[in-house]
Amino acid sequence: MPERPDISIVIPLFNEVESIGELCSWIDRVLGREQLRYEIILVDDGSTDGSWEEIRRIASEDGLLKALRFNRNFGKSAALNTGFQYASGEVVITMDADMQDSPEEIPELYDMIVRDQYDLVSGWKKKRRDPLGKRLPSRFFNLVTRAISGIPIHDFNCGLKAYRSSVVKSIHVYGEMHRYIPLIAKWQGFNRIGEKPVEHYPRKYGSTKYGFERFIKGFLDLLSVTFVMRFRRAPMHFFGSLGTISFLAGFIITAYLILSKVRSIYLHLPYRDVVDQPLFYLALVAILIGVQLFLAGFLAELYTMSSERESNYPLIDKIGF
Ligand code: UDP
Ligand code: MG
Repeated sequence: MPERPDISIVIPLFNEVESIGELCSWIDRVLGREQLRYEIILVDDGSTDGSWEEIRRIASEDGLLKALRFNRNFGKSAALNTGFQYASGEVVITMDADMQDSPEEIPELYDMIVRDQYDLVSGWKKKRRDPLGKRLPSRFFNLVTRAISGIPIHDFNCGLKAYRSSVVKSIHVYGEMHRYIPLIAKWQGFNRIGEKPVEHYPRKYGSTKYGFERFIKGFLDLLSVTFVMRFRRAPMHFFGSLGTISFLAGFIITAYLILSKVRSIYLHLPYRDVVDQPLFYLALVAILIGVQLFLAGFLAELYTMSSERESNYPLIDKIGF
């Protein structure tokens, strides 16, 4: 069996034919200097520009190159997720294929995981070479994510990141969730999250694969990530408590209305019909919403019960297995 590499470099790519060769030889040059065993895993996310043919050509010259290919474009998260499954290195580094990220950062990132014992180190494009229209919203997005997650890093969406192997093996990303990997890792109990300022270059070839909609989707994903992560293991705690509050409020108000009417009749005072009072309709709505929330909680709980069986609780050490 071949020895386990020190580093796996996972590179998602979608239509980056011009960069691939240059990037691979740049990585080889940098890591050739260090005494590190590494593997490069290219994940072709359904390219249509001949990227795969280019990868084949490079692989036939460089017997060590590894590559995976999707049959259509599934998105960067899917590509990363698949790359993570195949990565066998002790440290896993991700980077973009467009040469905006520099391989020169890899040795230091590796050291931060191995020497400084970080679980995850995120790159920080301190001097960012992107148009203003992208930098400003990104700044806002990072501010919000930082506030919600309490993770003190500046650049959540940086493509250049390093992970301890156990981190990537215990997180699953889909859709556009790759932006939130630090949050997901934190919720899985990987608390040592670091940051390293990294070089960033303007795109040399091709064009960006994302438009403005990235910010809307990014925001919606933040909502799902925070919500799902917080309540996924016990949805009934969330829905059930809200449902109980709503139902009880409605019930108490209705009881009050009925009792005060009975009392008025009894004391021969003037009274209004229960259905004549706006409060009654409010109470009715509260009861209905309460029941709905309960049902939602039960359904979510049912789903959790059946899916939790195959879900993984990250183990960072084992003895006797
Ligand atoms: N990418 C991908 N699948 C996609 C979109 C992008 O694998 O559906 C890759 C892309 O090839 C690049 C990285 O993700 O390697 C970052 O994309 P891009 O450079 O377009 O994003 P930006 O730098 O503009 O944020
Ligand atoms: Mg880019």
